[in-house]
Amino acid sequence: MKQKKVYLFPEGTKEQKYLLGGKGANLAEMTNAGLPVPFGFTITTESCLDYYRDGEVLSTDLLDQVYVALDELEQLSSKQFGSNVNPLLVSVRSGSVFSMPGMMDTILNLGLNDQTVVGLANLTQNPRFAYDSYRRFIQMFSNVVLGMDHYFFEEVIDEIKEKRGFTEDTELGAEDWQQVIQRYLKMVEAKTNSPFPQDPKIQLSQAIEAVFRSWNNTRAKIYRKINKIPDDLGTAVNIQLMVFGNLGDDSGTGVAFTRNPSTGERELYGEFLINAQGEDVVAGVRTPNPISDLKNQMPSIYKQFVELSSLLEEHYGDMQDIEFTVERGKLYILQTRSGKRTAQAAVKIAVDLVDEGKIKKEEALLRIDPDQMDQMLHPRIDPNVTLKVIAKGLPASPGAASGNIIFDADEAERLTEKGEKVVLVRPETTPEDIHGILAAQGILTSRGGMTSHAAVVARGMGKACICGCDQLKIDLRAETVTIGDLTLQKGDQITIDGSTGQIIQGNVPLIDPNLSLEFEQLLKWADEVRRLEVRANADNPTDATKAREFGAEGIGLCRTEHMFMEADRIPIVQQMILAENEEEQKDALAKLLPMQKEDFKGIFSAMNGLPVNIRLLDPPLHEFLPNMEELVVELTKMQVEKVNPQQYVAKEALLKKVRALHEFNPMLGHRGCRLGMTHPEIYEMQVEALFLAVIESKKAGITVIPEVMIPLVGHVQELKALRRMVINVGERIQQETRESFEYTIGTMIEVPRAALTAEEIAEQADFFSFGTNDLTQTTFGFSRDDAEGKFLHTYVEQKVLPENPFIVLDQAGVGSLIKMATVAGRRKKQGLKTGVCGEHGGEKSSIQFFHDTGLDYVSCSPFRVPIARLAAAHAELNNSVKKN
Ligand code: ADP
Ligand code: MG
Ligand code: MG
Repeated sequence: MKQKKVYLFPEGTKEQKYLLGGKGANLAEMTNAGLPVPFGFTITTESCLDYYRDGEVLSTDLLDQVYVALDELEQLSSKQFGSNVNPLLVSVRSGSVFSMPGMMDTILNLGLNDQTVVGLANLTQNPRFAYDSYRRFIQMFSNVVLGMDHYFFEEVIDEIKEKRGFTEDTELGAEDWQQVIQRYLKMVEAKTNSPFPQDPKIQLSQAIEAVFRSWNNTRAKIYRKINKIPDDLGTAVNIQLMVFGNLGDDSGTGVAFTRNPSTGERELYGEFLINAQGEDVVAGVRTPNPISDLKNQMPSIYKQFVELSSLLEEHYGDMQDIEFTVERGKLYILQTRSGKRTAQAAVKIAVDLVDEGKIKKEEALLRIDPDQMDQMLHPRIDPNVTLKVIAKGLPASPGAASGNIIFDADEAERLTEKGEKVVLVRPETTPEDIHGILAAQGILTSRGGMTSHAAVVARGMGKACICGCDQLKIDLRAETVTIGDLTLQKGDQITIDGSTGQIIQGNVPLIDPNLSLEFEQLLKWADEVRRLEVRANADNPTDATKAREFGAEGIGLCRTEHMFMEADRIPIVQQMILAENEEEQKDALAKLLPMQKEDFKGIFSAMNGLPVNIRLLDPPLHEFLPNMEELVVELTKMQVEKVNPQQYVAKEALLKKVRALHEFNPMLGHRGCRLGMTHPEIYEMQVEALFLAVIESKKAGITVIPEVMIPLVGHVQELKALRRMVINVGERIQQETRESFEYTIGTMIEVPRAALTAEEIAEQADFFSFGTNDLTQTTFGFSRDDAEGKFLHTYVEQKVLPENPFIVLDQAGVGSLIKMATVAGRRKKQGLKTGVCGEHGGEKSSIQFFHDTGLDYVSCSPFRVPIARLAAAHAELNNSVKKN
């Protein structure tokens, strides 16, 4: 049997989006639900793949099936394709599986030519409309099929407008448009060396082909890369009867979201233009009117639209993004899809839909991608600061962004690569600007509304964006933007607040984010579902407090070396390292001890009642000393300048020590528990400070659950010795103070040998904490800095590795070690506590793995705690979905 390549709208359903594309599947669904959708048919995504497989030619079989469907359109509409009396006109629309707004091409008014346009003019008694439609068609067709830039066409219109003294396109009459058309046709012929195609069937097949080809245009490819959409899906093509919003003042076109896509607020949110056709709204050429105006101008249409849009939302159980057109007082729906939204809106909408009884809590949780949450945890403008607001536009995508003003997408990309922060400022953006939008911190436009290209794309990327700020006079040639008396140049600093629409001169202090009520609610649901405990990595009371606010259930890793690095400590730490004799060293340690104790007390107090895991000193000692090369340079300088010999000798001694501590391979060198073995006095001091802090905190009424962690153990004997040391210090302190306290001792599993001998190690450990960063380095045998700096990107690009293993856990290798060690450790010690500290603890696919492996907790940076809570819930839900 022949493959079915063409589906009339009533033949499809919304489930068929892989075959019909999202747009086609939804047009089918709406048609079957009885909505007013102009009739049409869809060419399958398979046909697009066939087209590429066949060497970019349309098969005759496909064209035959298209013509059969076209007959159907003719009969239903009582119009004929190519007729001079009653011409059938169609749109040819791209539509892939996942929506890629504006990335591929669409052509409207196809079927018009020098003859049919006359028929259309007579039929509608509206020549102005007919010629306007024809010139739009020539323009779109020439752009999409013949590859001519819009710019040439806009220039012609601008010229004629100027000659006639008009400012708006809508002021042009039939004769003006006829003039435009004559110029267009000549221009096309000159540019392409052949006349503009007049045969509608040729127009149609060329248009279909162009839509197929647009699957592989640069901007679509970039969009897919950014959004991780596979390249081998292909696009469907929808061919649909035209309805006309440009027939006069009783017609128009618009786009609306059933909820606010920026904030999630439950309100119809959209825009429309009277006497306009589809593209006008989204292209940002004219700034459209808010949808609420429609209420006054076309009250009954407005009412009908409100009803239809809530029907659609109900039907799909999600916020919809709807395109509509009004033709002479009749409403048509042209597209519906789940609307793109910011993370903030996604959360609010999901929670509200649960409250409204439309979806279940589990569904709400699964709808929120943990990765997207990152956006909500970005810094925001300090509300207590007085701002120098210079203008206000539409708050199109929330978040704050500061940077230098740049007017060009390429330049934005280039400067960002150099490390500059830029804000892209443009009259409007087009799909060609996508790389600049991606690079910029934020986007500001003077034209276009909340549904314009810039707004939609920015929201999708989670970038701050302000649109339609018509106070801005942008001069692209001079590269300046003027607001009243103020003129800003390229490179000047501005800040935009996409939540309020405020544009602020200069840089603005940003503060930490906080969680919205809805986000808190969603995370509470996540907590009810998840099994994995979520802790945070925090080295000081401030981070610990933040982590707790974000829902951390303890500290999974407190790196004590960060406490040594502080400016007032470094000299003492250096004294400790450089000490010539025991006396000097003891002196230094005695100074450090009370400092460490206070650090620990601060953290215990922030984590009152929750476990705190403290890791003893980990990095090699040379990290606390000055850099060797710099010292050499300094010494040479001192020699030349003949400074005080005493100073010189001291520096020389320092250099000697630095040289002695120099390691060939610091990552594999004298660090972690190896330091503890050779410098027990340092670990002893840390443990003493820790226990004294426990006692003092308890006295202050704080509940402390301390865990002492020994880093980098590879052999059980290391852990055995250091465990003994910790216990000895503990016993001594208990005797000295006559206080008692409880604690546990465990180890990081971060070298393969530890994982391989986990059973032995478990005998000496109360817990295992997988240090996945070092474990990845030591398992692969490459250092992270060298790998990421030199070859890892090649590996990922050539698909040698699927992802950067320092970001997404390598389950087959590193994961196997974790699984093995967990099983072996628990075999030896029932109830051995296991967790992960390291960035992987906040990454969703890794979290799924840790959940499946049966670990007790993950620990990540404070700002990723909410993400981890949600991802841990997903891990549980994904498994229960699989089971059912
Ligand atoms: P995109 O995916 O870029 O939104 P569309 O295929 O949806 O492209 O079409 C672009 C614009 O043209 C939209 O505003 C749409 O509503 C309008 N449009 C598409 N087909 C028709 C039609 N048959 N009649 C009237 N307007 C149409
Ligand atoms: Mg569309
Ligand atoms: Mg480590």
